[in-house]
Amino acid sequence: MNKKIKSYLNQYRVMYGNQIYLNMKTQKKENYNKNKLNEYFSSINNCMKCSLGKNRKNFVFGMGNPDSNIVFVGEAPGKEEDRQGLPFVGRSGKLLDKILAAINLTRDDVYILNVLKCRPPENRDPSREEIELCEQYLKEQLRIIKPKLIVALGRISAMTLLKTKTSLSDLRNSIHKYEDIDFLVTYHPAALLRNPNLKKFAWEDFKLIRDKYIA
Ligand code: URA
Repeated sequence: MNKKIKSYLNQYRVMYGNQIYLNMKTQKKENYNKNKLNEYFSSINNCMKCSLGKNRKNFVFGMGNPDSNIVFVGEAPGKEEDRQGLPFVGRSGKLLDKILAAINLTRDDVYILNVLKCRPPENRDPSREEIELCEQYLKEQLRIIKPKLIVALGRISAMTLLKTKTSLSDLRNSIHKYEDIDFLVTYHPAALLRNPNLKKFAWEDFKLIRDKYIA
């Protein structure tokens, strides 16, 4: 295969997974944001602003439908995400896929990204400094995508975008706003794997997403 095409397809796969985007249920305008995200990816994917940069295998930018109305925000890449350069492709990601399927979506109908783009060692919590250095990337991605709904998966993304220390259980059940965009908070899939009793609460959150935000 021609080198240029190969490199384009590789970048496309890193950003959007294995799908070529056509018209989707949750989409605003066909391929509207794709070029802007491509450009943005190229401008930041060599980032070395914090120490995580030097140990990463891949900068995990995000994936999914760049014109989706719904964006899910996780915490940081884990080992498998670092290896593949894609968000939520490990155990948590498999669970996220199942939950999305339960509300009739696939990861290709939504956009998925993280607060941090590089893996913290041993999957420790992101430090405050790492979040401060990386959150501008997340915010710019949100500015480009302009979703109608942001769903924070877990405490770190809720805290980062809402600038609050309120507990996750208190943040659930309300529609918050992030720069005029509806913002919901639910459990991180890893928390659901650790504590399956939480699944019934997460299901309530996803039913709200289905009933209010999916046509
Ligand atoms: N956990 C996250 O928060 N993000 C991922 O991409 C994977 C696991």
